[in-house]
Amino acid sequence: MTTPSPISQLKIRCSACKKETAFDQPYAYHAGFSDQAFLYDDAGTCTLVFSAYEEEFSSVFGHLMPWTAKDEEKKRKFEDLLPPSPNGGRWRFANSARCPHCGAKLSGPMSETIYYLLYPGSLVLNDVRELKKGQPVGTDNSGAAPRRV
Ligand SMILES: [Zn+2]
Repeated sequence: MTTPSPISQLKIRCSACKKETAFDQPYAYHAGFSDQAFLYDDAGTCTLVFSAYEEEFSSVFGHLMPWTAKDEEKKRKFEDLLPPSPNGGRWRFANSARCPHCGAKLSGPMSETIYYLLYPGSLVLNDVRELKKGQPVGTDNSGAAPRRV
């Protein structure tokens, strides 16, 4: 038997505490390639990724792409539609990705960068409305179910 090659992990060294954080992704993902939007929670250690063309998102933002939207009230309205993150915080457009060890910023929010980091336990959704149907558990059927990473 051959040993399966290990999953390539992106490692980012915190400039503040010098500790490395590993992400289960080979590199920082580019949201624009797949028309995705992403938000980090208040702690900055969980990621919500969803389709930027998702219906509810469009109803709030119209034709604006999420990373160019300047309308703070619309952003807040959308944030308020979202249930809390699994960690208890809120998903905010202004939240940065943060070092799990010391809280220093590792990567900026969608308004600063198109690249995102996927923390363990992050939510990758085809449809934001999946979140409001209750806790996203039971991913054993239907490809539309939220995928926990
Ligand atoms: Zn740190």
